[in-house]
Amino acid sequence: MASVTEYFGCLSFDDSAMRARLPKDTYKSLKKTIDEGKSLDINVANIVANAMKDWAIEKGCTHYTHWFQPLTGVTAEKHDSFISPIGDGNIIMEFSGKELVRGESDASSFPSGGLRATFEARGYTAWDPTSYAFIKGKTLCIPTAFCSYGGEALDKKTPLLRSMDAINRQAKRILKLFDPNTDVACIRPSVGPEQEYFLVDETMYNRRKDLIFTGRTLLGARPPKTQEMEDHYFGSIKPRVEAYMQELDEELWKLGILAKTKHNEAAPAQHELAPIFTQVNISTDHNQLTMEIMQKVARKHGLVCLLHEKPFAGVAGSGKHNNWSLSTNTGINLLTPGETPYENAQFLLFLSAVIQAVDDYQDLLRVSVATAGNDHRLGALEAPPALVSIFLGDELTAILEALESGTHYDPLEKTQLKLGVHVLPKLPKDATDRNRTSPFAFTGNKFEFRMLGSSNSISDTNVVLNTAVAESLRQFADKLEAAADFDAALNNLIRETIRAHKRIIFNGNGYDDAWIQEATKERGLLNLRSTPDCMPYMLSVKNLKLFADHKVFTEAEVESRYEITLENYCKTIHIEAATMIDMVQKEVLPAVMAYTGKVCETGLAKKNFSAAMDTSYEEKLASRLTELTRLTDDGIRALEAAVTEVENIRNLTDKAFAYKEKICTRMESLRSYCDEAESLTAGSCWPFPTYADLLFGVR
Ligand code: ADP
Ligand code: MG
Repeated sequence: MASVTEYFGCLSFDDSAMRARLPKDTYKSLKKTIDEGKSLDINVANIVANAMKDWAIEKGCTHYTHWFQPLTGVTAEKHDSFISPIGDGNIIMEFSGKELVRGESDASSFPSGGLRATFEARGYTAWDPTSYAFIKGKTLCIPTAFCSYGGEALDKKTPLLRSMDAINRQAKRILKLFDPNTDVACIRPSVGPEQEYFLVDETMYNRRKDLIFTGRTLLGARPPKTQEMEDHYFGSIKPRVEAYMQELDEELWKLGILAKTKHNEAAPAQHELAPIFTQVNISTDHNQLTMEIMQKVARKHGLVCLLHEKPFAGVAGSGKHNNWSLSTNTGINLLTPGETPYENAQFLLFLSAVIQAVDDYQDLLRVSVATAGNDHRLGALEAPPALVSIFLGDELTAILEALESGTHYDPLEKTQLKLGVHVLPKLPKDATDRNRTSPFAFTGNKFEFRMLGSSNSISDTNVVLNTAVAESLRQFADKLEAAADFDAALNNLIRETIRAHKRIIFNGNGYDDAWIQEATKERGLLNLRSTPDCMPYMLSVKNLKLFADHKVFTEAEVESRYEITLENYCKTIHIEAATMIDMVQKEVLPAVMAYTGKVCETGLAKKNFSAAMDTSYEEKLASRLTELTRLTDDGIRALEAAVTEVENIRNLTDKAFAYKEKICTRMESLRSYCDEAESLTAGSCWPFPTYADLLFGVR
């Protein structure tokens, strides 16, 4: 097999492919579009399309597709072949600039949250030239944004690109203040998403309807062992998993995805994959592709990759850590503390901008990770709470405190440093210690947001982050541009910002109950436990204004997303309830009854054998199982009735709350009866694989 350096990116129409295949001036104007967002001439598009097509055909492609990310959260594609008739029954393979740049697609089958009137079902896809085209199977995939006829965003890409524009615009203003002659043409967020997942055996998976229909187990008694020995994290990787990870890396590398780190995670059967960071729209595309390929490759190894946030109750769930920073096109990371005073001041300003953004828009950050699945994870085992705070580490916190109070900062053993914009301490990259419990941690030269669920698109979170930080920067630039004395104004601004927003900074244990108390009671931070709890915040005046001011979402677009999220929440729980009823009725109850019958038979046989024989165990067991059977049956009826009632609620917000309060709770009690019955029933009689089978079944 070829070496990695040879095949890396072979399925991606990347910079080297473009350079090799495009005429020089075409390449140059395309580069300008990619690097600086200049719009693309149709003549250039025609040449690019033709080169792309030739490249794809050489690699065996027959079709192309506009690949996009509708609000379902997964990707969509509709394949068109390159063929074009030329008469006499002959064809040529053709692909025009027009077809590359714009596609038309029936939008009516994708969620639009009321944006798309039924009489206007057309949707349009528009090429995102900043994300490379790639090949999947025999199809050339062109990353695109998806909009309605009226131009409203119907996808996860459009707002992300808009938010990148917003932060670029404002960050440039700031850089100009520090250096009027700056050669920075563009500033973009960089993101490296760490992806957690579970692997289970495919034959076991196929015997569990809950995994098949909902992606998580709805039933299952606790096994004797889960993760208490802490022997899985970074543990040696089993051969079957190793083979899977190897093939996964190879498939990702072919697509030019920078898969870098792989290891076992905290829970048994849980693993992680992290890529090297890239600019956010590309890492978003790549993360979607990664999730898709993870699932595909797993099947080839007789495995199933679970991306659900909480596949197993009582076991750590899966998240996605969104490592975020800001980089200039000249290769400078604006969140690097830097070594010279001026860089430090600039760093501290960007740091303050993030602190303010996270405090002001903590509600939107929570909203950006809201799904029924993630609700099970946030605030549970080994997951950050549903409440946002920032970890900065002791050193950075001490520096900010000193700045705020205007006192001297004493680095422990180093010489005393005066404070002020011109004499700021040098901050080593490793100034921050490790804190794994913070939802939003500064880790040396980037922030790591850890509330995302493993199945989430990273788009929503980054739209919020980019836009919220753009807003801080806008306010800062307004003030600083108007200031007579820049240095004094800068000093003041940093101090005021820290003073106003230090409540969001917390360096302690984020999993601690005492912190939740302090955060909510003393600091006034928001603890929004569930999706229905947090979603109404999305529509607040403050948040609508943020998105409108930065041209990221219109009010109608925000409303549509609000609706889609809640609809999705209700549908998810509805399917879970229906699946649970089905499994309990058709599999659990018959198994429990059959086993109860066996127990009774044994008791009877004993009595027949000798009336004096002790059958108290059989009696006790059969009675409890009978009791559980009755409770289970009652539980099914109660759940069914509640589903019917909740489905009739017209108001979506009320309906979502009812799903949480009436359905989730009933599912929990129904589960508790079934799980107890499982623990009392002979393993050989249980109708589907248990937690122990699933968690320890891949060897
Ligand atoms: P950690 O162990 O602290 O989580 P790593 O260095 O392994 O840190 O990085 C984790 C993820 O963060 C990787 O995906 C990495 O590419 C990404 N990352 C590193 N530096 C940056 C940066 N400046 N901006 C965005 N992401 C980054
Ligand atoms: Mg990490």
